[in-house]
Amino acid sequence: MQRERITDHVFVFRSDLYAQATAGVVKTAAGTVMIDTLLYPEESLRIGGFVESVLDSKVTHVINTHFHADHSTGTCFFPEAQVIAHRKCRELLNSRGRESLRALQESSPEFASVKLVLPNIVFEDRMGLRVGDTTFTLWSSPGHSPDSIVCLVDEASVLFASDTVLPIPYFVDGEFDDLKRSLSQLRCLTFENIVQGHGDIVLRGEAKEKLDGDLQYLERLDRAVAEAVAEGIDDLDSLISAEDCGISHVLLNGLVRQLHVQNLQSAAERYRRRRDDR
Ligand SMILES: [Zn+2]
Repeated sequence: MQRERITDHVFVFRSDLYAQATAGVVKTAAGTVMIDTLLYPEESLRIGGFVESVLDSKVTHVINTHFHADHSTGTCFFPEAQVIAHRKCRELLNSRGRESLRALQESSPEFASVKLVLPNIVFEDRMGLRVGDTTFTLWSSPGHSPDSIVCLVDEASVLFASDTVLPIPYFVDGEFDDLKRSLSQLRCLTFENIVQGHGDIVLRGEAKEKLDGDLQYLERLDRAVAEAVAEGIDDLDSLISAEDCGISHVLLNGLVRQLHVQNLQSAAERYRRRRDDR
């Protein structure tokens, strides 16, 4: 697992075991806030070990940015923490999260010790959180999933964007229009760093270009799919490449290509539904 230090108190961990998923650790004067908890217990526990032995602190708060297992499975390893999330995250963890944990446990003994944890503090639009000397602002940022949030560490100006910002925008489990709106909203703000839900950290000088590129990707993909569906083209997998939409294939060890094809199919579904509704 890679560890990056953003400031003296803000750290980012990047998984070696699952799709470069990220988790954040913010040490405050009154305990440590962890933003997402990763999938594999081995890595979640290693982050807990770092907080205790290197930072000499304890995880007092866990923020679940959304219900997907690669971001939320490790929450149970921080049993004393308050767990904060969007209201819909609690609902989705309790339904789909419960199912996916069962499937994980059936497929691998590594997950035997995992227990489902439901957030005990939930919000709808926006929430401020003060822990010790540090202020966090959390807000709803749907699109990747209906329950997605982002978390700003105010003083450090570090945005933990989770899967709202990825090496390739990905809306298969959410809504295309919501993701466009959420990304446009971030485009209007300035951050020192944006921590993506997977992959590299986006630095201040790169942020606008990155978000413009993401919005451009969505627009190009949308236009191509709309035309193809209107013309009755069914095979969309090779309609337009991620690269033609301005996103590099090599990111996330090539996973980008696969996510792009799923985006194409999901966007086409949306147009076919609309067409059939008429
Ligand atoms: Zn996700």
